[in-house]
Amino acid sequence: MNAPARPKKSFGQHFLHERRYIDRIVSVIAPRAEDFLVEIGPGEGALTFPLLAAAGKLTAIELDTDLIPTLEAKAASVGALSIVHADVLKVDFTAMAQRAGVARLRIAGNLPYYISSPILFHCVDHAAAIADMHFMLQKEVVDRMAAEPGSKVYGRLSVMLQLACRVEPLFDVPPGAFRPPPKVDSSVVRLVPLPADARHDADPARLHAVVKAAFAQRRKTLGNALRQLMDADAIRSAGIDPKARAEVLAPMDFVALAKLRDA
Ligand code: SAM
Repeated sequence: MNAPARPKKSFGQHFLHERRYIDRIVSVIAPRAEDFLVEIGPGEGALTFPLLAAAGKLTAIELDTDLIPTLEAKAASVGALSIVHADVLKVDFTAMAQRAGVARLRIAGNLPYYISSPILFHCVDHAAAIADMHFMLQKEVVDRMAAEPGSKVYGRLSVMLQLACRVEPLFDVPPGAFRPPPKVDSSVVRLVPLPADARHDADPARLHAVVKAAFAQRRKTLGNALRQLMDADAIRSAGIDPKARAEVLAPMDFVALAKLRDA
């Protein structure tokens, strides 16, 4: 048998080894044979093989070439594993669903923490092609994703994620469940993209710009923070006090602000 690979820090490799967490993750995903399952970062296959055994087929996206031959060899007796050697940020999930002839993908992964926010934003861009996502992330990131207005950790990630998905934190995982242990606690979260009739209709680039500017300096009033994008009267016309701070606005308030330009 091959010795386990030495985990690479530069790829954010922390391999999950504790059986009870692996089982718990697979059980909350509840894979079915009819699913088109996609795993981000299979690593040594801790989640890959149980998911593959349950669903019969799986597409996995892995950036580290060194891990691929072992994954392929081990998968042969388990199910149909298709490995995409790529940076997940460059994978077009909408095109992947179209090529596979499925309406929506189910995505899962113990994500590389060094790019967890970019991966989340990338998935949000393809939300219409995704049925659900189950991700392991830093607990602190999951707290920010699920935070409500008024909370200290409510910010850009909370607003952008909640405008696209239902965010459901599921359970925490301690550092000792991984090899090597990360320095932070982790959490598993479920994201379910909102149905088409519940999605916002603001221009995505404008919304990104408004939310980014609003939270860039949290202590500034909206009037000041958004100065480059709109004036105080415009903010008022959306029913929002320009003296308020971004952290008290509901996610849909940012949509109202982003749509002002078109008014
Ligand atoms: N799923 C495995 C587990 O739970 O043990 C490994 C998880 S490890 C935290 C993250 C995985 O993502 C590693 O296999 C790493 O090589 C891979 N990875 C890192 N950056 C990536 C990227 N940009 N695109 C795709 N995979 C990436």
